[in-house]
Amino acid sequence: MTRQNIVAISRDDTTPNVEPQRFKVYTARQLQQIPQLAQLSEEQRFDMQVVASVLPFRVNEYVINELIDWQNIPADPIFQLTFPQRGMLKPEHFERVASKMRDGADQASLNQVINEVRADLNPHPAGQLEHNIPQIDGETVQGLQHKYRETVLFFPSSGQVCHSYCTFCFRWAQFVGDKDLKIAARESGQLQEYLRAHPEVTDVLVTGGDPLVMKTKNLRAHLEPLLTEEFAHVRTIRIGSKALTFWPQRFVSDEDADDLLALFSEIQAAGKHLALMAHYNHWRELEPAIAREAIRRVRATGAQIRAQGPLLAHINDDAATWARMWQTQVELGIIPYYMFVERDTGAQHYFEVPLIKAWEIYRDAMQQVSGIARTARGPSMSSHPGKVEIQGVAEINGEKVLALRMIQGRNPDWVQRPFFAEYNEQATWLNHLKPAFGADKFFFDA
Ligand SMILES: *Cc1c(COP(=O)(O)O)cnc(C)c1O
Ligand code: SF4
Repeated sequence: MTRQNIVAISRDDTTPNVEPQRFKVYTARQLQQIPQLAQLSEEQRFDMQVVASVLPFRVNEYVINELIDWQNIPADPIFQLTFPQRGMLKPEHFERVASKMRDGADQASLNQVINEVRADLNPHPAGQLEHNIPQIDGETVQGLQHKYRETVLFFPSSGQVCHSYCTFCFRWAQFVGDKDLKIAARESGQLQEYLRAHPEVTDVLVTGGDPLVMKTKNLRAHLEPLLTEEFAHVRTIRIGSKALTFWPQRFVSDEDADDLLALFSEIQAAGKHLALMAHYNHWRELEPAIAREAIRRVRATGAQIRAQGPLLAHINDDAATWARMWQTQVELGIIPYYMFVERDTGAQHYFEVPLIKAWEIYRDAMQQVSGIARTARGPSMSSHPGKVEIQGVAEINGEKVLALRMIQGRNPDWVQRPFFAEYNEQATWLNHLKPAFGADKFFFDA
């Protein structure tokens, strides 16, 4: 693996001698220009092109040169995380697009097939577009989601891309160019207006895409107003991001990196908690020196880094990977927060892990680390009624059941309610589960 020592980890607050690096990104159109792909057969490259025409593809040079082990493709987890694989489309979907491409179909008829396939991939899991969209004076507000009482999600319009794309992204539909699929705010005035009217909101979660693709001055324009007395009820600002993995230069050597860290410090100084909700899938993302320097610099601002990410076949579906990831996070001062279940959208059939197997991986990983690293919530599904955690397999009165817990609920009274489902080794999502003990519905099914 080619891993340069970009910067030594220093103990003081300034990072010496880090030259700004150019951000170069490849999309589906430039896929064939990636030098490392020359080692693949023509057929393999064609397969990738087919998949990249349906699902989003975007990868930058840092990921290519520093994170992927090209001696180990296609199995390499970071390669699977960012590069299209044939199996990510079901055979009939793959064939429909591939045959058009082989026949040299014109762009219009190719696009038509691509759009049909996309529409088949459940682009809006858990009713993302219809539900949870808040209103001001009877009008819907673009770019906000308010599902759980205390937390509002904010999608700034200039943060709706990422430094690279994950092949399993549940928000993939936002990235493939269809404007109807996008949820993005055009300006922050509406966020402020909404928050003024909702004193019950304690947390604002800035998300995307990746809001840290934004220039610091734009992010500042959204966040600084929230530090005034008027928004005293907003106690925590979270930023959801995978930049610590995909572009740690954002915190170290980008032109406005220092300004970003200054903004983090300001938020803390205003008495609010700033949590960087870092998306991690594999301990390898934590290895490069510059990634560690980025973590060190973020922590030096007083912000906290919490780690979350889905459990995925082909990437991290074994206990040792999670145990090592959690342990490394703890050593770097990151708090493990969530293990998610991959949602029912996009390439789910490729990445899915049955719920019971997911829980076994979680349990086995937990058993390999000390209590300090056991802070991640167990496999959790972000489903329509709320976030449901798999607590384990139990036997009650001779019936084998799956114990579950609602950790976030559309109805606040549901939070922390335990409930039970029939044991089912195939189920990969909540809607595959049946209530245990012969009940005809779960408590949240009205
Ligand atoms: C997970 C999630 C939150 C935050 O929930 P916490 O349990 O506070 O981390 C907020 N809104 C939505 C839609 C979520 O999925
Ligand atoms: S970083 Fe997050 S939003 Fe961006 S592609 Fe990956 S999973 Fe999707």
